[in-house]
Amino acid sequence: MVTAIVGANWGDEGKGKITDMLGEEADIIVRFQGGSNAGHTIINNYGRFSLHLLPSGVFYDHTTCVIGNGVALNIPYLIKEIDTIVKEGVPKPHILVSDRAQILMPYHILFDSYEEERLGKNSFGSTKSGIAPFYSDKFAKIGWQINEFFQDDEAIKEKIARIAEIKDVLLVNLYHSDPIDQEALFNQIVDWREQVKPYIGNVSLYLDKAIKEGKTILLEGQLGTMKDPDHGIYPMVTSSSPLAAYGAIGAGIPPYEIKQVVTVSKAYSSAVGAGAFVSELFGDEAEELRRRGGDGGEYGATTGRPRRVGWYDCVASKYGCRLQGTTDVAFTVLDVLGYLDEIPVCVGYDIDGEVTTEFPVTHLLEKAKPVFKTLPGWKCEIRGIKNYEELPENCRKYIEFIEEQIGYPITMVSNGPARTDIIYRKSALSR
Ligand code: GDP
Repeated sequence: MVTAIVGANWGDEGKGKITDMLGEEADIIVRFQGGSNAGHTIINNYGRFSLHLLPSGVFYDHTTCVIGNGVALNIPYLIKEIDTIVKEGVPKPHILVSDRAQILMPYHILFDSYEEERLGKNSFGSTKSGIAPFYSDKFAKIGWQINEFFQDDEAIKEKIARIAEIKDVLLVNLYHSDPIDQEALFNQIVDWREQVKPYIGNVSLYLDKAIKEGKTILLEGQLGTMKDPDHGIYPMVTSSSPLAAYGAIGAGIPPYEIKQVVTVSKAYSSAVGAGAFVSELFGDEAEELRRRGGDGGEYGATTGRPRRVGWYDCVASKYGCRLQGTTDVAFTVLDVLGYLDEIPVCVGYDIDGEVTTEFPVTHLLEKAKPVFKTLPGWKCEIRGIKNYEELPENCRKYIEFIEEQIGYPITMVSNGPARTDIIYRKSALSR
C-alpha cells in the first residue's frame, strides 16, 4: 500500500518525524519533489539529524530510500548526507536514485543567489539552493536528467555549450558576472557521475514491482500546501508541487495506488520566506513561541534563520487538508503550547469587512485580517502521555475544536519530537 505524508501548511509541520515513525513498518520511502532547500529534523536513537535530501527512512536497515524523478538532485548534498549519517553510526542506507531524476547544477545555485540579490527588498526569501532556476530549466527543457551524464562525452560537451549560450547572456549582462566555465562544468559532471553511479536505477519499474508484491511504500513530501505553485500563495511558493497527487508523478506510480494521505499540521503556525501569513504573531509573544517551538526553537533546518510564527490557522489548514486529499491528520508539536493560559485560534478571515472560512487567492489573502476564537490552555506538560483520554481536558478540547473547524480526522497527535511520542486516536470523521 502507498501512503503519502505531506504538509497542510507552509512546511516544517513535522513530516520528518512522522515519516521516520511510520518508516518502522515500511519497506520503501520515496522523496518525490523539492530538493535540498528545506530540511527535516529527526531525533532517534542515533542522534539528532537534519536531512535535506535523503528520505526520512534512512535510519532503518530494512527500508530502501528512493530519490524520485520529481526531486531536484543536488549530488554533493546527497553524498555528504550519506557520509554524515554513516559517520554517526547509522547502517549504510539502501538508496535508489531514479535514472530520470534531474540534476541541480552549480549554475542553478548561482542564478538563485544573483536573482535574490537583484530583487533586493522584493526577494522571495529563497534559501538560494538553486531550486527555482532548476525547475525553470527542467520545464524549459534545458535540464539534465541524470542518465544524460552517461552518454558519450562529446554529446555532454555539446549540451554544455548550448546551455552556456543562453546562460552567459544573463550572467554577463544582467548579473555582471563571469560566463560559465565550460571545461570546469564538464569535469564536474565526470566527477559527479562516478559518485552517483552505484545508486541509479529504474525507479518506476522498481515501485511497480513493489506495489504488486504488496510492499508498504511511503511518499514523503517537502513543504506544504501553501507553497504549492498552483494552489499555494503564488508567487511566494516553491517550484514543485508538494501535494500528495504529485507524489504519483514524482515517484512514477499510478495515482490510484495512493490509498492513504497523512497530512501533517502543527498545533500552531510557522512559515519561512516571504508572503501573506494571516495569523502571524509579532513582538514578545512571537519570540516566546519561536523560542519554545519545535524541538529546539523555530529556526530553519537549512538556513538557521528564525521562522515566522503564529496561532493555528483553521482556514489555511482546512484548505491545505482538502487539496492534499487528506485521509488522516497528524497533529504535531502540541506539547509546546503547554505554557499558555489561553490559546487564540484563527477561525476566519475578515476581508473588507466580510468574514470567510474559505482560503482566498493571494491578492485577497494579503488583505485578510484574522478572526480569532480564544480557547483555554492546559498549563502542563503532556509529553510522555500515551493514551488520548489521559490528555488534559482543555488539550482534548483544543484538538477536537480544530478537528471540527478543519473537517478532517485527527488520528495522530504528536506530543514530543521522539518516534515514540505519539498518541493514536479514533475520530468520528474517519472514513
Ligand atoms: P518537516 O520539514 O515537516 O519535517 O519539519 P521540521 O523538521 O522542519 O520541523 C519540525 C520540528 O519539530 C523538528 O525540529 C522536529 O524534531 C520537531 N517536532 C516534530 N514533532 C514534534 C512534537 O510533537 N513536539 C515537539 N516538541 N517537537 C516536534
